[in-house]
Amino acid sequence: MSRAKHIPIRQCIACRERRPKRELLRIVMTEGGPVLDPTGRRPGRGAYVCPDRPECWAEKKLRRLAGAKAAELALALQMVLGNVACPASQNEQPSPQ
Ligand SMILES: [Zn+2]
Repeated sequence: MSRAKHIPIRQCIACRERRPKRELLRIVMTEGGPVLDPTGRRPGRGAYVCPDRPECWAEKKLRRLAGAKAAELALALQMVLGNVACPASQNEQPSPQ
């Protein structure tokens, strides 16, 4: 590993902390709304949030980025990062065949 020269730094749009890009989760604003981009490869305008801080997934903190889509984005983050039990997936226990 000899790539310590340059670590890309990005700023979380929620808490404004600067962190190495790989510690943050990328979000891309698409025409259909914000999309989580764990691979960082989607084209488009990207923004970053802390995947390890639930307070950074709050709707009001995302409104600056996502506007009217902030609630949708907050929910997506909570589902993906927080493993929030969603009502639709309550029968997720392994079913013994
Ligand atoms: Zn943050």
